[in-house]
Amino acid sequence: MGAAAEKEMRENQEGTAPDEGGASRDQDKRAKRRFRGEVYIVRERCKGCGFCVEFCPNQSLALDEAFNSKGYHPPVVVDLDSCNGCDLCGLYCPDFAIHGVRRKTKEKRDEG
Ligand code: SF4
Ligand code: SF4
Repeated sequence: MGAAAEKEMRENQEGTAPDEGGASRDQDKRAKRRFRGEVYIVRERCKGCGFCVEFCPNQSLALDEAFNSKGYHPPVVVDLDSCNGCDLCGLYCPDFAIHGVRRKTKEKRDEG
């Protein structure tokens, strides 16, 4: 990962990390984020290993209570607002069952 990408990831993670300043400060930071995340999950490919949940830096995922047809618990997004689309979930998934995508926030799109 290049220095620019690392800086970008740090900036986005800073905006989503839990802090001691309370929810409103966290929300302000989120509002200023340059990216929002989208997560795509192929439930039937999942084997329920939980890597994606474990390695998500923003606690955006949890394993579903429901089973897929193979009898595993696939992940679900529990806090889309906190997802920055870093795709760590996709990098750790051994079955290519999940990936995250980064989109520019509306504010940043408007800026060009
Ligand atoms: S892309 Fe995946 S790992 Fe990254 S914040 Fe979103 S759910 Fe978590
Ligand atoms: S890492 Fe992949 S296989 Fe493991 S629980 Fe997440 S989506 Fe399912």
